[in-house]
Amino acid sequence: MTYLSRADLLVVGRIATLAGEAGLGWVEALAVGEGRVLAAGPLAEVGVLVTRGTRWLRIPDGHVVAPAVTDAHIHFLEAAVTADEIDLEGTTTMEEALAIVARAHEARVRAGDRAGWLFGHGWLADRWGRLPAAGALEAVAPGRPIALWAHDHHARWMSPAALAACGIDAGTPDPPGGMVGRDADGQPSGVLFEHATRIGVEAVPRPTSERLAEAVVRHADRLAALGIAGVHDPGATAPDPTLEGGLLVYRRLAAAGRLLLRVHAGVRDEQLETAVAAGLHSGEGVAPADPGDPQARLSAARFRVGWLKLFGDGSVGSRTAAMLEPYAADPGGRAFPAGPRGRLLESRERMIERVTAAAEAGIATMIHAIGDGAVRTTLDAFAAVTAERLADLPYRPRIEHAQLIHPDDVGRFGRLGVVASLQPVQLRSDETIMRRAWGDRTRHAFALASLEATGGLLAFGTDAPVEPADPWPGIAMAVTRQAAEWGDGVPPSTPEESITLDRALRAATSGPWRAARDELGGRLVAGSPADLVVLDAAVIDEPVRPGGALALARPRLTLLDGEERYREAGFDA
Ligand SMILES: [Zn+2]
Repeated sequence: MTYLSRADLLVVGRIATLAGEAGLGWVEALAVGEGRVLAAGPLAEVGVLVTRGTRWLRIPDGHVVAPAVTDAHIHFLEAAVTADEIDLEGTTTMEEALAIVARAHEARVRAGDRAGWLFGHGWLADRWGRLPAAGALEAVAPGRPIALWAHDHHARWMSPAALAACGIDAGTPDPPGGMVGRDADGQPSGVLFEHATRIGVEAVPRPTSERLAEAVVRHADRLAALGIAGVHDPGATAPDPTLEGGLLVYRRLAAAGRLLLRVHAGVRDEQLETAVAAGLHSGEGVAPADPGDPQARLSAARFRVGWLKLFGDGSVGSRTAAMLEPYAADPGGRAFPAGPRGRLLESRERMIERVTAAAEAGIATMIHAIGDGAVRTTLDAFAAVTAERLADLPYRPRIEHAQLIHPDDVGRFGRLGVVASLQPVQLRSDETIMRRAWGDRTRHAFALASLEATGGLLAFGTDAPVEPADPWPGIAMAVTRQAAEWGDGVPPSTPEESITLDRALRAATSGPWRAARDELGGRLVAGSPADLVVLDAAVIDEPVRPGGALALARPRLTLLDGEERYREAGFDA
């Protein structure tokens, strides 16, 4: 405790600090000064930092304080923009989806727009029992270019006008790492898989950087209400070599004093050369436009350059995840667009080359790998880059999703120091899909307990907009391995892989900070940023169960840098 510090704020109540390696680390009081925790402990000790100017925050009975969440994998810019687009999540048939598209089209026509682009997301071939087709969109919205991401953003359903605008016809070859879905007669069917979604994408209009900046500001408020103080954004789905549609949007907001959320902004594969030429490296921040303004200083400090993002494979829903053994036969007789074992989107050699090139510039790498084949190749690639080179980087190497890990590979995460960045909420929607695609191998999916037991560092995220940005159902899912949405009588998915509540909370709070080699963030100990939430005590006290208080948690209050970002109407503290 520094005797010169003075508390701006004193929090008194039941406070879970998540200090140390295990448990919840309960304390009674927390002193905050200049946005950081000065001391945590008994009120009698922490109280010596109180002066006449100190504000008191007395947490009412029935509530607890915990560190705020960092989402380690969220396409935040994309989530912010798609919040205003066509939403096909939850549709059970293509007809239902087409009715939604038809309504959006008619509304545009009434507004005088007959041929502008329509965008959307959320269709799921596994739920519909078939893949959609371009002609169906033409029937409900003649002549309009329409592009609709699948639920997992690994395939895009295009109308004939959208295919034509992108220059895709029967003569278009499959690009490396991508597949153009085709009819029996070789015509494009209207579904593009993986990197084929990038063909002619220059013709697809993009939001301006002003619109993106406004979307970030609006969406940051929604996340604060969910208890989220920070995000790691691996980048948007649409390629953009300029950094204009991503990293620079955040950096400008931060410098201007308008970033009300911590952001680690990713560098996409095709942006690496631009980023290196600009001298960017992982962990780099930005200077405030007005250094004399304390708010501007806090805002600037919330921005960091994050990780290079590479794609190792596709997804299980699209059957494009790269597998060690073939997929189970599809009951619908559907062909596998990337072959019976899926397909790697990057060779091991190219992964090594890119990870090394990034490391030379001080940029750490995250690699998307969902199937056990892609996970193994990705671990091989990290292992081939020298340990010293990875250890010298400001941030740790990481694998995104790691949905299915072969049991022989689980221990390699801990040994190699590779972060396991998982989204346990995906178990909720993917359990059925995984059973169909992987059969009995599904018992090794989301191997949370095995990763922890072998020294692997877990960092949780939601992958929004693929899943909703609400972090709490995923935290609960890591404990229960079972969702209320599954209905009664459906057993948990491999209960041996469940982890305890305090471990699940850590994976959602301190885990992402530790991925960035920061041992203070995501906890409430001396030196931590004062990012915290006030929750109903039942969230922590009630035994965790599907549909219980943890899965349904909503903060009453969220603080970022010790300042109020969200307060539920009527909450009095
Ligand atoms: Zn993602």
